[in-house]
Amino acid sequence: MPNVIVVLGTVMSGIGKGSIAASIASLLSERGYDTNVIKMDGYLNYDAGTLDPYRHGEVFVLDDGTECDMDLGTYERFLSKNLSGDNYLTSGKLFYEIIKKEREGYFKGEDVQFVPHVVNDIIERILTLPGEFIIVEIGGTAGDIENSYFIEAVRQLSKRVPTAFVVVTYVPEPPSIGEQKTKPAQQGLRILLSMGVTPTFIVARSHRPLEYKAKYKLSLYGGVPLENVISVPDLPSIYHVPVVLEKQGLISKILKLFGYEDESKGTRWEGFVKRCESLEEELTIGVIGKYADFPDAYVSIRHALIHAGVAVGRKPKIIWINTRKEVKEEDLSSLEAAVIPGGFGKEGAEGIIKALKILRENEIPTLAICRGMQLLAVEIVRDLVGYSDAHTTEIDPNTRHPVVIEMPGYSRGRLRKGLYPVSIVPGTHLYEVYGSTKTLERHRHRFYVNPEYFDVLRDAGAKLSARSGRILEGIEIGSMIGVQFHPEFLSRPREPSKLFLDLYKRAIFK
Ligand code: GLN
Repeated sequence: MPNVIVVLGTVMSGIGKGSIAASIASLLSERGYDTNVIKMDGYLNYDAGTLDPYRHGEVFVLDDGTECDMDLGTYERFLSKNLSGDNYLTSGKLFYEIIKKEREGYFKGEDVQFVPHVVNDIIERILTLPGEFIIVEIGGTAGDIENSYFIEAVRQLSKRVPTAFVVVTYVPEPPSIGEQKTKPAQQGLRILLSMGVTPTFIVARSHRPLEYKAKYKLSLYGGVPLENVISVPDLPSIYHVPVVLEKQGLISKILKLFGYEDESKGTRWEGFVKRCESLEEELTIGVIGKYADFPDAYVSIRHALIHAGVAVGRKPKIIWINTRKEVKEEDLSSLEAAVIPGGFGKEGAEGIIKALKILRENEIPTLAICRGMQLLAVEIVRDLVGYSDAHTTEIDPNTRHPVVIEMPGYSRGRLRKGLYPVSIVPGTHLYEVYGSTKTLERHRHRFYVNPEYFDVLRDAGAKLSARSGRILEGIEIGSMIGVQFHPEFLSRPREPSKLFLDLYKRAIFK
């Protein structure tokens, strides 16, 4: 039987519960324990594929094509482990599969109920994950209708296997009062207690480190010893979170509770954080897309830039450029490098095409990802071939020059998702970057560069540098590199994406 660590929230969401859960997982795995995670989300959406990046941040994609919450990206980056659909459960998926079973006669005429059926299903999903330690993160906050059955499931589970509850709460410090106030946290804890869950640890998020008085109150109201109240103040980056947790001995305390001996020898994250902080020289990189005013929508790109920056010794200074607004040459010409993220729909697309032209003409090292690559192909055909109406049929279904079209078999919203092999053409820049004719990268798209335009692109001076069957996976022209896949999803702090590293190198040694 595994040891289970449940991470849940009170007061409000969006305060870093995901990074706290990921840090706990990472610190355990760093000690050599086989650690696994599962994130449970109350949404009735089957997966995150249809969630609005404006509200939820980026849609992250796993090897098996699961479209999930961006917290799974944090887990992968912290654990250096590739996760699967088993590590992500929405209420939509949970109910869909239970109702499907009911329709198939699985329950043989029984009433299908929240308790025991839904709850047992949740418990089974936790217990079937391999690992000595399973971190269960429950999205939202205690008291939400949509996560009540997840909380009931972990409450019941805690009677069967060793379980620790790490409750993440928030302690505000209103400027007009100038004091840390624990009342919202007290009320949140009361809700949790009324659900039968007693915290083992309370992790208090606050602006400044938690003062003794606030700590003491939380320990009283939450019914935990004072030393089990952990303070996580606002930090310069999420990579500081494991360092702060380790300093307060959270993992040693959890391990002792489960009957393990432990003596903390610090964490590898200390070195990473030190390297981040020691970077002095900056590199100005534009991230250009329609969600630029909401950077969480591009969170994996931001992290991929941090990882590669640490490796080459440069601090990324990211300039977010919103293509829903007018794209101006003077905003782009001073950039040292640029990333064009993927995207869907019409909004901001003309701005991206304009930006691509400016970047190409100013020879600014650029990495264009997924739709960014598709629009790069459009831009080349428009500007270098002279077909000014060239387009992707995603935006203009009637264009006379459909440079990008829907892939056969991928109509009605079906996407090519997950890890697919990419064949790289020797003699290209991409080949130099990967040092191989083969790689595996994650994808999420429905459109592709129209194979009928391959020769047109070649004649315009572009190199078609990678393929997957008929699907164009890479294109190069001047300072521009476009890829159909998403290299940002596989970038890890100590193992940066080769393409992001290359972007820095191209910018530095220009
Ligand atoms: N909208 C484009 C497609 O479906 C690109 C998707 C993306 O950039 N992730 O192919």
